Amino acid sequence: GLALFLSRRLTKWMIRPVERAARALDHDEESGATYDELTPFVSHIRAQDQQINDQKATLEQERETLGIITNSMREGLLLISKDKNVVSINPSAIHMLTGRKADVYEFQGHNYLIVNRTREMHECVTAALEGNSRDAVFSMYGKIYHVYASPMIRLAEVQGVVVIVLDETQQRLAERSRREFSANVSHELKTAVTSISGYAEMMESGMVSSMDDIRTFSGSIHKEALRLIALIEDIIRLSRIEESPRQADEMESVDLNELCAAVLESLDPVAKKAKVCLHLDGSVPPISGAEAMLSEMVYNLCENAIKYNRPDGDVWVTLTDDDGEIELKVKDTGIGIPEESQVRVFERFYRVDKSRSKQIGGTGLGLSIVKHVVEYHLGRVELDSTLGVGTEIRVWLPK
Ligand code: ADP
Repeated sequence: GLALFLSRRLTKWMIRPVERAARALDHDEESGATYDELTPFVSHIRAQDQQINDQKATLEQERETLGIITNSMREGLLLISKDKNVVSINPSAIHMLTGRKADVYEFQGHNYLIVNRTREMHECVTAALEGNSRDAVFSMYGKIYHVYASPMIRLAEVQGVVVIVLDETQQRLAERSRREFSANVSHELKTAVTSISGYAEMMESGMVSSMDDIRTFSGSIHKEALRLIALIEDIIRLSRIEESPRQADEMESVDLNELCAAVLESLDPVAKKAKVCLHLDGSVPPISGAEAMLSEMVYNLCENAIKYNRPDGDVWVTLTDDDGEIELKVKDTGIGIPEESQVRVFERFYRVDKSRSKQIGGTGLGLSIVKHVVEYHLGRVELDSTLGVGTEIRVWLPK
């Protein structure tokens, strides 16, 4: 019994310094090792401990950097494990694929189908899990998305899938509008050239003999040719505005009072012919803008106000200085625009009454040019019209 008691006391006494040394390791204190034999172990463990702590800090920092990058990415990023569960998803991917803002934890560890159930997404992920990269385009929540899924391969085995989602709405819509534009341009050009060719052919074959008929036919050819020229000029203008990126150094000081007066003066003969009276009111300080484009814009607005007016009608051009902005208002007493067409008149080649517009030399590009010039100047445009009463178009431009 005594031996047992003594051996326990002795063991405790011998172990205590080792325990103290172990505690000291945790608390970064001096080793306190009473046994010199332990010192090499203690310093080795301490060095390893330090190394582990350093590596932990580096990993933490890397994780944080990666988190910042993925959180601020405009592209959606989704990592899926080989058992089809979400490993990681960034806020952009949540927003694009679910159409709402939600917390990452709502999806982490769950099957990827709770994020998105579209067929395209499913096909891409399935192909990637089989080791093949796949991409697809699909529309959702009014946007067009391009999804790329690639397998994550380690040790010749698929460990999961990386999915990148890009919002290509703007790009695809621009492509579509470019395609539509080319189709419309070809159609418009072909129509004009076909009628010119038709009239010329009839004259060539001797079907038109009297002097009066010749005059009528050549008048029609002339009119169509003028329309063709106007159309080509508008197309060139429109593509020039569209292609020139906004350049701050190309902006000059523009006096809109002078500019409007000059435009109205140049349109005076047209207005007289149409029996329309032109008025200019108000005065504004100079703004920073591209003069040629602004002149084009005012010209198109005033020309429309005259063209689509009634005999003895009026056109008022009013300039107002409106706290940081300039308001340009062109108001007429013309035929007005039906409500259903009001949102469409700024589209290229859209005309309310195609035959009337053609007859008076319209190309359907005038208001489209106006819209582009306004956007180029970071302004906005609004239209107010009542059928049979008149139209008012207001443009706001930042000073
Ligand atoms: P267009 O060359 O045919 O005038 P625009 O793009 O300038 O083409 O205008 C598009 C259409 O909008 C016109 O065809 C016309 O039907 C309508 N419109 C434009 N301005 C007016 C206006 N002030 N009053 C009535 N209709 C207008």
